[in-house]
Amino acid sequence: NPALTQFGERMSRLTGVRAIMKDIIETLRSGKGKDFINLSAGNPVILPEVEQLWRDCTEQLLSSPEYGEVVCRYGSSQGYQPFIDVIVEDFNSRYGLNLTDRNVLITPGSQSIYFYAANAFGGYTTEGKLKKVVLPLSPDYTGYGGVSLIPEAVFSYQPALDIDEANHYFKYRPDFSQLTIDETTGCVVFSRPCNPSGNVLTEAEVKKIAALAAPFEVPVFIDSAYAPPFPALNFTEMKPVFGENIIHCISLSKAGLPGERLGIAIGNESTIQVLEAFQTNMCIHSPRYGQAIAARAIGSGALSEIATEVIRPYYQQKFTVVETALNQAMPNNLPWFLHRGEGAIFAWMWFKDLPMTDWELYQQLKEVGLIVVPGSSFFPGLQGEWSHKNQCLRISLTATDEEITEGMKRLATVVEQVYKSV
Ligand code: PLP
Repeated sequence: NPALTQFGERMSRLTGVRAIMKDIIETLRSGKGKDFINLSAGNPVILPEVEQLWRDCTEQLLSSPEYGEVVCRYGSSQGYQPFIDVIVEDFNSRYGLNLTDRNVLITPGSQSIYFYAANAFGGYTTEGKLKKVVLPLSPDYTGYGGVSLIPEAVFSYQPALDIDEANHYFKYRPDFSQLTIDETTGCVVFSRPCNPSGNVLTEAEVKKIAALAAPFEVPVFIDSAYAPPFPALNFTEMKPVFGENIIHCISLSKAGLPGERLGIAIGNESTIQVLEAFQTNMCIHSPRYGQAIAARAIGSGALSEIATEVIRPYYQQKFTVVETALNQAMPNNLPWFLHRGEGAIFAWMWFKDLPMTDWELYQQLKEVGLIVVPGSSFFPGLQGEWSHKNQCLRISLTATDEEITEGMKRLATVVEQVYKSV
């Protein structure tokens, strides 16, 4: 094997949940015959109405004279102009903004936005000073753990917890008594709604974070992979927040196009230009086929309609199935907590004072044929000891109602034994 550089070393490692996925795939492969219930998936469900929309848009593109121009030619790094125009028009009319095409960058998936941002604004400055990529509330998206070429740049903060003991619910809040954004901060990133917790930061919390960052001209990247208007995977009322130092980042992955890799960054011109140059160096530009079909789906209003009428209700109902199943199966006298289901495609659980680690619990659940994701991989950049980090599980809302219900029964049985064992 050729010798690797520091960056090579860093980038060739599997980070966060990807490492666990390997274990899960091996478990599923080796466990032939065992009827595993797999509640680990991060891949969205293929909903028939959503697939049909993308098929229809593809057919329109195939029969249009535009086709050759879309797939047989290079384009600008910023993105396919008709798609950018549709985004500008949609966001201006929907949210009363004054965007021009200079405020938009199209990327191959939204993950790449965080990679560009983490390395353009985070890492060592030309004077050798470390600029941090600040995650204001941990846990957050595991993918942020691998985006920086400089591992020590990613820095996250432990949250405050609202706990409803009697009803077994909890909710994370940013801890503003700890959160520091200053001249050592390169950029701020968080997901809203949040993967894994399903938390939605309030408008006031978002504005406060943006206001803390503004005096230092720090860009705030709001990862809106689950936000309205598409895929609109918010189960609580929420409005996207825009502002001078806010970069609103969209993904079309949960709106049915994960395979096409399509992300959108909306923000001030100078930040967009930095990201665009990064993109030119990395991959020239995003594929144009996905952009051309998305221009049709968004321009016609069909995507936002399907998002609120099909995608959101589908996952919201799944969350209710989890809640109901847990309330029926879990012992009331144990300190288990479900995070408030405010959005995204996961349920997030916390087992207070769990007498083992989340990894050990994951192993025990595998023994009864249940696969969930141990929570500790969702705390990228969190330094210091915090027992909570090893007391959580992520449950995917992509399974059938029956699988979820049976899975929660198996979970309850194991958890009861685990707490009893001390
Ligand atoms: N951000 C969050 C919060 C996610 O959950 C995901 C994917 O699961 C991504 C970003 C990456 O999305 P994309 O497919 O647009 O790269």
